[in-house]
Amino acid sequence: MLKELIDQFYLDNQKNREQTRFYITDAGKCPRAVFFKFKNAPKAPMDARIMRIFEHGENIHRSIFNVLYRLKIGVVTEIPIPSQEIISGRADAILCVGNENYVLDIKSMNSMIFRNLMAPKEENVYQIQLYLHYFNIKKGILLYIDKDQQSMKEFFVDYDEVLCKSLLDKFYALKDQIEKDSLPARLDDYPRNWQCSYCQFKDTCKSVEGDTYKNQIS
Ligand code: SF4
Repeated sequence: MLKELIDQFYLDNQKNREQTRFYITDAGKCPRAVFFKFKNAPKAPMDARIMRIFEHGENIHRSIFNVLYRLKIGVVTEIPIPSQEIISGRADAILCVGNENYVLDIKSMNSMIFRNLMAPKEENVYQIQLYLHYFNIKKGILLYIDKDQQSMKEFFVDYDEVLCKSLLDKFYALKDQIEKDSLPARLDDYPRNWQCSYCQFKDTCKSVEGDTYKNQIS
């Protein structure tokens, strides 16, 4: 009884905002899935359990912010990137350690993924690179937290101008496809790619064919 009520609470409160700009977290994501988000295409509802996992991750972030403030190295937290036409996002924190500024991005994960993490995940590097770009800061820290054991790993990231340019070029190309209703291809290793396993647009992706989206979904 209570379990069902709690699940329903999460389902009733899920945000279903229409997307009109890219988020920094879209960097590295399947372009076809991002396209579907913009088009408000039919998608599977999110599981209440997954929503609780996200919420737990947000609580971990808040605990770290609290420590940063007390250490007096968290200059600002949850800072939106400067406004511009294509992309929005919010960095976890900007720190000042030893007279050097850093963008901090915190990621939480389960013990099994954490244990096997030997290098930062590619999509996390893309995201922090874009924060570095928009804040004009040269160094970033990716802080990974094991949700089950509370262990931490940190990786330093130097700003890479060439990589940022290629990420932004991809966003502009996708914007063009969205405006022209030109459907991006499936991922090369569809449906084995890990993104496909978690994709809310799996059914839509399977059912639409060709390179134009128009009139395929009623
Ligand atoms: S199922 Fe895979 S290829 Fe299709 S939209 Fe989702 S992530 Fe992309």
